[in-house]
Amino acid sequence: MRTQTIDSDITVIGGGLAGVCAAISAARLGKTVALIGNRPVLGGNSSSEVRVWVVGATAHGIQRFARESGVIGELYVENQYRNPEGNPIIWDEVVMDAVRAEPNIRLFLNTDVREVDAGDVDGERVVRSVRGWTMGSELWTEFRSPYFLDCTGDGLIGHLAGAEYRLGREARDEFGESWAPEVADEEFLGSTILFYTKDLGRPVKFVAPDSAKDITQTPIPTSRILRSGDSGAHYWWIEWGGMLDIVHDNERIRDELRSVIFGIWDYIKNSGRFEAETLDLEWVGALPGKREYRRFLGDHVLTQNDILDQTEFDDAVAFGGWSIDLHPVEGMYATEAGAHQRYSDGIYGIPFRSYYSRNVANLLMAGRDISASHVAFGSSRVMATCGAGGEAAGTGAALALDLGVRPRELAATHAAELRQLLLRQDASVFGVRNEDPDDLALRARVEASSVARSIDPAEFAPGGDDRVLPLTRDVGLLVPVDPRLEAIQLLMRVPADAELEFSLWTTGRPQNAVPIDERLRTRVAVAGSPDPQWVRVPFEWNPQQPESVVVVAEAHEGVELLYRAAQVPGVLTLVHAPQADGDANVEVDESEALIAWPAIPMRGRTVRARLEPATEAFDAAKAVGGYQRYYGGPQLWASAPIAADRPQELRLEWDEPVELRQLRVVFDDDQDVELNTLHHHRTPDEVFPELVRDYVLEVRRGGGWIEVARVVDNRRRQRVHDLDPVETDAARIRVLATNGVGQARVVALRAY
Ligand SMILES: Cc1cc2nc3c(=O)[nH]c(=O)nc-3n(C[C@H](O)[C@H](O)[C@H](O)COP(=O)(O)OP(=O)(O)OC[C@H]3O[C@@H](n4cnc5c(N)ncnc54)[C@H](O)[C@@H]3O)c2cc1C
Repeated sequence: MRTQTIDSDITVIGGGLAGVCAAISAARLGKTVALIGNRPVLGGNSSSEVRVWVVGATAHGIQRFARESGVIGELYVENQYRNPEGNPIIWDEVVMDAVRAEPNIRLFLNTDVREVDAGDVDGERVVRSVRGWTMGSELWTEFRSPYFLDCTGDGLIGHLAGAEYRLGREARDEFGESWAPEVADEEFLGSTILFYTKDLGRPVKFVAPDSAKDITQTPIPTSRILRSGDSGAHYWWIEWGGMLDIVHDNERIRDELRSVIFGIWDYIKNSGRFEAETLDLEWVGALPGKREYRRFLGDHVLTQNDILDQTEFDDAVAFGGWSIDLHPVEGMYATEAGAHQRYSDGIYGIPFRSYYSRNVANLLMAGRDISASHVAFGSSRVMATCGAGGEAAGTGAALALDLGVRPRELAATHAAELRQLLLRQDASVFGVRNEDPDDLALRARVEASSVARSIDPAEFAPGGDDRVLPLTRDVGLLVPVDPRLEAIQLLMRVPADAELEFSLWTTGRPQNAVPIDERLRTRVAVAGSPDPQWVRVPFEWNPQQPESVVVVAEAHEGVELLYRAAQVPGVLTLVHAPQADGDANVEVDESEALIAWPAIPMRGRTVRARLEPATEAFDAAKAVGGYQRYYGGPQLWASAPIAADRPQELRLEWDEPVELRQLRVVFDDDQDVELNTLHHHRTPDEVFPELVRDYVLEVRRGGGWIEVARVVDNRRRQRVHDLDPVETDAARIRVLATNGVGQARVVALRAY
């Protein structure tokens, strides 16, 4: 038999989104990577072979400011541009192109890793190599490297290496998880096969195959919502096998799922209850999409309480925000809802200690097999979160190699360094301030041509008309308090004399955007008028750090707020009327803050409000040494409106000349907007209008400016510009045009 040996710095097994993001991030840090997948395409469950749509912390728009950045963020944004129809085949190629763009990655598709050579070396257990069989090529390959990442979903590599893991659900008292069963068991979330349909515009018949199940003999028609036009991931609830062994019984599970799909389609086509005459069955998956199997044990097990309490970890290297989403073990045959979902009040951190094995020293993991309890896995398993974790694990492995330490030591003594490196890569971390000692921008004075000072959409983004939001419900306005607040003015129509009631709430955590703790309350007497008037609400609020608060205007019959169809960064309007994502097969708790105060109804629109004193939330300094994503404020520089003849600029000035080799820029791609690879919710823009489109980078020499880079038609969030080394006392970015919005916005400007 043909054999070969591949030596790399890092071997990543599993070509799902966790593996892809791990491989790309390590490769970008200069490491050679072997990326091995046993399927002909990348993407795992998101690929065209399974067709699960990628969701993450945005949770179908229920969370706020939660979309992932880094590698998974780039994939989302690129897919949005290339694939407005949400075609899973195009998504495959978006992922493939991103991997092929990295010269440090060697990709091995159709290669199934089946053997692991692991043993004790110098008192620690390590993986020495893994062996994979490439189908169709009749080739055995041995992969050797100092580090291995198990991103296989099922966790076969760690299992063969002797890594400790869990199967099934922990007992309630093990981690004090109220949603865990009283007694531990081996029940899982089941597997699913999806199907696509197509309207041919002429009558099409369907003769059910012999294997089709008569679903009228099951609870499906009465306990699940069936709609003739639904396709793909809308049918996530065709789930089964949770009481079996998901891997060992995989074949049986596949047969059951396919028989039910043909049964559902027979019911839709031939029962006479649906308008489906012209619909055809276009595609039925052949591979069961697996939700759950092994979960490895790391030095930390992420739990329900970590998610709901939003535990602050010093080594948080990724985040989640999807609900804890648990399904009944009977899956599609359950009579209760197909999923029960519970939310944290905002995004939560996942520690690096959940991404490496506690007993195999050179084994890391990312994806659905990380160190999390069954309940916490209910949230961390979604694919953008897996991708963010992949980036963290890949970056962690690269840094461990550079520093010559094991992941455990990295977590214990180099966590801050790892987080800084992740932030520099624009990965999905929050609450981390740029303190990169190599970033020369931190030693510069930061100046801007102008700065936006108002959150009033009419001033921030002039244009458009006032529209009316009746105050029939309490309305909350999330606003930045930077540095302090004396009063907020709201443009309102108050037709008759009224005493209006307002309250001010803090959000519990800086990453949150919901009213959690009431701090101030006041009543304001307003003289009635048919015309809109600015109502001044005196609220003295002096936080130690800038923070965002929610000002609530209480419902008042006949009174209206005015708003504009423009989104001011870091400002949200929350209507107190419970709303989830509209999936009738899901049960949510309407009293939870995120559901009770949805951002969805007013997203993209901003209530007319003014802060006293004027806000400093959009200062130039936010783009240097900042957090790079929403954290108690928008965390970006926004200019006054750009005019065609007057570009806006952000400038770094050094007292002593510096030698510059690289400029890194991060632009705003509105992380409050949910993206979904297959467009669960279609966003109107193929390119985020907030992104800077055309810009020039310049350095100053001898008192004059020299252009070092010019970009037109940018549609990316992060741009890295390597320069011929140049000595200079100033550098600047001149923003010539954006993809739509009227101001220049820069999230980060770094200099190396
Ligand atoms: C039906 C269904 C609905 C879901 N709903 C959503 C949703 O709406 N949105 C969402 O984001 N998530 C959803 N999830 C969860 C999500 O799909 C998984 O948790 C996620 O895919 C895990 O990512 P991963 O990279 O760890 O694993 P996977 O996506 O499973 O990828 C692992 C890859 O490794 C390969 N592999 C396995 N073993 C080997 C081996 N020995 N050698 C080489 N390669 C190997 C596999 O073939 C696969 O390609 C759903 C899951 C299912 C099944």
